[in-house]
Amino acid sequence: MPKDTAVTPVQSDPWKVALQQFATAADLLSLKRGVREFLSHPKRELTVNFPVQLEDGSVRVFTGYRVHHSTVLGPTKGGIRYHPDVTLNEIRALAMLMTWKCAVVGLPYGGAKGGVVVNPKELSQEELEHLTRRYATEITMLISPESDIPAPDVGTNPQVMAWIMDTYSMHRGYSVPAVVTGKPISIGGSQGRIEATGRGVMIVAREAARHLGMPFQGARVAVQGFGNVGSIAAVLLREQGCRIVAVTDSRGGVYNEKGLDPAELLRHKEQAGTVAGFRGGTAMTNEDVLEAPCEILVPSALEGQITERNADKVKARLIVEGANGPTTPEADAILQDRKVLVVPDILANAGGVTVSYFEWVQDLQSFFWSEEEINERLERIMVRSFREVLGVSQERQVEMRTAALVKAVQRVADALITRGIYP
Ligand code: NAD
Repeated sequence: MPKDTAVTPVQSDPWKVALQQFATAADLLSLKRGVREFLSHPKRELTVNFPVQLEDGSVRVFTGYRVHHSTVLGPTKGGIRYHPDVTLNEIRALAMLMTWKCAVVGLPYGGAKGGVVVNPKELSQEELEHLTRRYATEITMLISPESDIPAPDVGTNPQVMAWIMDTYSMHRGYSVPAVVTGKPISIGGSQGRIEATGRGVMIVAREAARHLGMPFQGARVAVQGFGNVGSIAAVLLREQGCRIVAVTDSRGGVYNEKGLDPAELLRHKEQAGTVAGFRGGTAMTNEDVLEAPCEILVPSALEGQITERNADKVKARLIVEGANGPTTPEADAILQDRKVLVVPDILANAGGVTVSYFEWVQDLQSFFWSEEEINERLERIMVRSFREVLGVSQERQVEMRTAALVKAVQRVADALITRGIYP
């Protein structure tokens, strides 16, 4: 497979960004020093270096991480990322974001994240399976349905989750579907999980447009990243009558002011491995997609994409963060001045973890729900959470990111204070 190219470097250290965002919320809540210090540290971090035998007989050592940020509200939940740029600080930041994300939508979870420094596109399916099973074994002391439940993230998918579930189950001697979410439906996955993050993005985009008094029908949308989140958000937004005018992935993309059909783009991507080269529009780069003429921008790739360098060139009135951490704090300030409404990651992409929660509950009960039930419950949680965050934003006169963080941090801090400090 060809290598991913043109990956935009992360502008700032994601862990510093996460700490800075937390500090803003902690200041507003006048958090006590001890609580603040406790929540500024990940609870535990595991780094593993492990060998994998490749098909040519050679052995390569890979580095992986699993970080638990907080267990105050319950077992930890968070995805596993396979990407060549994975770092411990990135995983720390994403674990902290997961704590806030679960809290903002009211789930009984703390935050975690995992990752392996690897370009999965360079491995065969068999090599990927071996890497996954070995990584799952290396982090096995941290994961279980009661303690930490991984899920897919960038570079991983339901098949990877199936291998993790199977590896864990083999070690136990019986099947443990609830140890991961985002599994295939045939082994205890949930209806609607694959679409959940993109569906949540669509729901909050619709609510935010309504709040802005902006027509949703016909709104032009630009999407950066066309993986699980970006592609499904594009399909569902189009179903709602939005016009998808620009789409890119790590190798470039396309623009068409008349609108692109995401289903056709998906077919092109299946064959070409990228949306770049799609005939239904003109070529567009990853940088340009952020500045594309549109009303709604949906960054759905990696963190650190909207920065102080390009924030003043964003044309959208509404940014819905499908990705985690796509906007730097410097860019946030510029966007706020320019009155661009940013629906932050911990709210905008919480649909994924919400349906992961439904999947875990179904697995624990061995009782499964219909897709309609899943989508209805997701809709209720996303709409309620959007309105609650908007309420905090209006009440405290702060932008939506700070409002979401304030709501989330408050919930975790209250639980921490109620539980007390052991011993
Ligand atoms: P994915 O691997 O399915 O897709 C990632 C997409 O981003 C691919 O199209 C890839 O080509 C593209 N990409 C990578 N680097 C890029 C770059 N520099 N510029 C433009 N495109 C680039 O991953 P995903 O699951 O869709 O996750 C995307 C984002 O959404 C991540 O930030 C992830 O943490 C976040 N997220 C995912 C979920 C989920 O359920 N999958 C839930 C919440 C948040």
